Amino acid sequence: MDASDPARGPRADAEVVVDLAAVRHNVRRLRELVWADAESPGEVMVVVKADGYGHGMAQVARAARQAGAGWLGVATPGEALALREAGDTGRLLCWLAAPGHDFAPLVAADVDCTAYSVAQLDEVVEGARSAGRPARLQLKLDTGLSRGGATRDHWLALVTGARHAEDEGTAVVTGLWSHLACSDEPDHPANAAQVAAFAEALALADDAGLRPEVRHLANSAGALLHPAARHDLVRLGIATYGVSPAPDVVTEAELGLLAAMTVRGRLVMAKELSADDGVSYGHTYVATGPERVGLVPLGYADGVPRHASSRAEVLVDGRRAPVRGRVCMDQFVVSVPEGEAGDEVLLLGPGTQGEPTANEWAAWSDTIGYEIVTRMGARTHGRATRVWVGQEDT
Ligand SMILES: *Cc1c(COP(=O)(O)O)cnc(C)c1O
Repeated sequence: MDASDPARGPRADAEVVVDLAAVRHNVRRLRELVWADAESPGEVMVVVKADGYGHGMAQVARAARQAGAGWLGVATPGEALALREAGDTGRLLCWLAAPGHDFAPLVAADVDCTAYSVAQLDEVVEGARSAGRPARLQLKLDTGLSRGGATRDHWLALVTGARHAEDEGTAVVTGLWSHLACSDEPDHPANAAQVAAFAEALALADDAGLRPEVRHLANSAGALLHPAARHDLVRLGIATYGVSPAPDVVTEAELGLLAAMTVRGRLVMAKELSADDGVSYGHTYVATGPERVGLVPLGYADGVPRHASSRAEVLVDGRRAPVRGRVCMDQFVVSVPEGEAGDEVLLLGPGTQGEPTANEWAAWSDTIGYEIVTRMGARTHGRATRVWVGQEDT
């Protein structure tokens, strides 16, 4: 085991363990699932934004490259530059810069920049001029998510402006892309509508003379459930981490994916309650008879969702232990008929020992597995230490 975060000091009472061998397995498995039957196989972009969905951006990036990811994707320019600083030199796309952003460092670092609008295109071109080399530029179209990207009405102006930048040598258009709204709902009509809108926009760009390296529309669920959305490249986030993007449609096990994150701790104490004893803030749980409970030293500051109060379960010594009462900032109480102080508690993991998965926590908390792993992995202060195992590709 390699504790890669020495600033945090000695092994803590609670830790987030990230299995990079699982990440590599998932990337290889996904390449096979998406491209094995394709006539001309495309590429895979592993999305490592938000600190690799809580798993550690630089560590996941390295594992993804080892497993053959031709591209990495991040949201912000800061994330892209941090990856370059960590030594990554491959194809890298970023897509979320605020107005007034100085693109010169991204251009100099050979990062593909995304423009949503002509105004943003002008900023990228400005960055290219300062950097003294053409920007690698990708154009994003809004095909129906109504989030970032040019609307259909503005697409032609964006494409034409980009073609002009190519002519003057300030940009090379490397990609055209969009993002799906309902990819985890296979029968939702938005999927076919977005695929069609994207095709139309690609034709317009082609007519305008753009010849990008890659066209891409699909995230994890899009790549797995909508072959027509795959184009040249699929952007895989959550599936890389071994969490199904559409748990109601297909499970991790059915996809052959392995959850990379395990969250564990130890019971700080165990004690007996009597009938009518209220538990935790607000006494939202009251013991109905004698009950033995244990104290878990993790709370919502560690990403344990407060919404899962009295709903979630953890694994203590191989048995499911239900949460009793409210999850607090740093701790919560579980029912443990035979628990003792020091017992191992598994909050979250691949489920192979009976512990809850991220998607189980999501159901308990009315959210999605993405939010569970991103928050649990993000704790940057206090008790939870994050360690990475399986660093070497053997
Ligand atoms: C986060 C993100 C992805 C990855 O989505 P998953 O559902 O995690 O696969 C892909 N593309 C864009 C634009 C994103 O913001």
